[in-house]
Amino acid sequence: MISRRAFLASVGGLVCVAVARPARTLPPIALARHEAFMRLAIAEGRKNPMWPFGAVMVQPESGEVMARGVNDSQADPILHGEIVCMQDYVRRHGNRGWASLVLYTTAEPCPMCMSALVWAGIPQIEIKAKAVVDASPFYKGMLLGGVLQAETDRLFMDRRKTP
Ligand SMILES: [Zn+2]
Repeated sequence: MISRRAFLASVGGLVCVAVARPARTLPPIALARHEAFMRLAIAEGRKNPMWPFGAVMVQPESGEVMARGVNDSQADPILHGEIVCMQDYVRRHGNRGWASLVLYTTAEPCPMCMSALVWAGIPQIEIKAKAVVDASPFYKGMLLGGVLQAETDRLFMDRRKTP
């Protein structure tokens, strides 16, 4: 099994899309908008130089950033960037509206995060993430890898290696 770290070096940023339309189709968001939102996720990731896993959740129609998060696993092992972002969303907007959101994250979600996203209803899980999605027929979202991959890969290559 490939490690998450090794996988990151080849995958780069990931976009998770929650859609209420036919499965495995992206809402019509231009690549430039995906890149703009991924830059916000990268900015979140830079807040933790050792573990630059950052995420933002966006309302795609309005472009409003609904939540943000960065890995805080030094405080709590489950506080991965996606989890922190989801908690920020619930704190600000309540536990609803997940299916209308798009999540941008600087790296492919781990199984914990992917499962949390699936259970929240943001269409997504890594065993790899794609394998979880393919094994979740109820899941209507899709994964789009490679958005600003060079920048997200650089984030991890340049990360601080010691506290
Ligand atoms: Zn995770």
